Amino acid sequence: MKVLVTGGLGYIGSHTVVELQNEGYEVIIIDNLSNSSIEVLDGITAITGIKPQFVKLDLKEKQQVEDFFKRHNDVRGVIHFAANKAVGESVENPLMYYENNVNTLVYVLKEVLSLKQQNFIFSSSCTVYGQTDQLPISENAPVQAAQSPYGNTKQIGEEIIMDTCKVKPDLNSISLRYFNPIGAHPSAKIGELPIGVPQNLVPFITQTAIGIRTQLSVFGGDYPTSDGTCIRDYIHVVDLAKAHVIALKRLLDQKNKTNYEVFNIGTGKGSSVLEVVNSFEKISGKNLNYKIVDRRKGDVIAIYAETKKANEILGWKAELTLDDAIGSAWKWEQRINN
Ligand code: NAD
Repeated sequence: MKVLVTGGLGYIGSHTVVELQNEGYEVIIIDNLSNSSIEVLDGITAITGIKPQFVKLDLKEKQQVEDFFKRHNDVRGVIHFAANKAVGESVENPLMYYENNVNTLVYVLKEVLSLKQQNFIFSSSCTVYGQTDQLPISENAPVQAAQSPYGNTKQIGEEIIMDTCKVKPDLNSISLRYFNPIGAHPSAKIGELPIGVPQNLVPFITQTAIGIRTQLSVFGGDYPTSDGTCIRDYIHVVDLAKAHVIALKRLLDQKNKTNYEVFNIGTGKGSSVLEVVNSFEKISGKNLNYKIVDRRKGDVIAIYAETKKANEILGWKAELTLDDAIGSAWKWEQRINN
């Protein structure tokens, strides 16, 4: 059963490839290595004992995408991770984001329509909910005006797929709206590899603890939350990866209720920034150098997932804890700095 994973050498993609191979799927990865390293392939191979097929290809190259699908028309499912994901960078360079996140989606989706089995899974994000006061937030909540070009590419991406599904009944697609993926594979053979200054909390914490950064800035200590810091739903990347395998199986087994479905993928539990810091200090036994600074513009105060739909309809539930995720992230940081 051949599955194409675009962006499969990236953070979430690589963990998903591991889970797919563990379940017996034959994986082909497309990645242009713009935000990943070829060594990730060795990590996947070391964990699973199987080297996935890898094709270095830039999905912005429409002709190359067409040629790839001509050569691989036996693909039974496509999981599309490839995209740029830095919110700040998207504000600075919106066209780069629209080109890489929207054009590539269109090129890949067009080719999926030429396959015998048209199963497509899309990496969406809780950013589509924007500033919200509905907590926990369910899939029925209205999509709000995007806070950044990056967030907009996810909204547009969902709309492109939804509109296509309306007129192409053979296309079956699921968008997974991820909350905040953190952690690494427990083997510490793959994990998050931020290029430059990390945009996300957990790699910033582990890099500060290991001495790459001097101090963690906690943006805002006066929010109306239990300890004044922002609240997010941190989901272990291994749990998130497993959600993709379950979603793919749902499509392959034709268990989907409509040909376009959306699921929140989170734990359903909100954790504050200071709770994450405390978890890190407890697990690592280290004191973290952090400072509470002014609020950062555009930050949502609190968001966490309503997970009923994913639990009951998709049949997926997060199993790992915040401590599990933090422990794995710390193990990974120590390994890559050894
Ligand atoms: P990542 O940057 O680690 O992985 C993306 C991979 O895609 C990288 O390996 C990159 O080299 C590749 N890629 C990018 N553009 C490409 C192109 N034109 N052609 C071929 N390969 C290309 O990111 P990630 O954290 O693994 O995120 C995966 C997906 O999940 C993205 O779509 C992202 O927007 C989405 N997402 C991520 C988060 C998060 O916090 N990490 C949250 C919500 C949604």
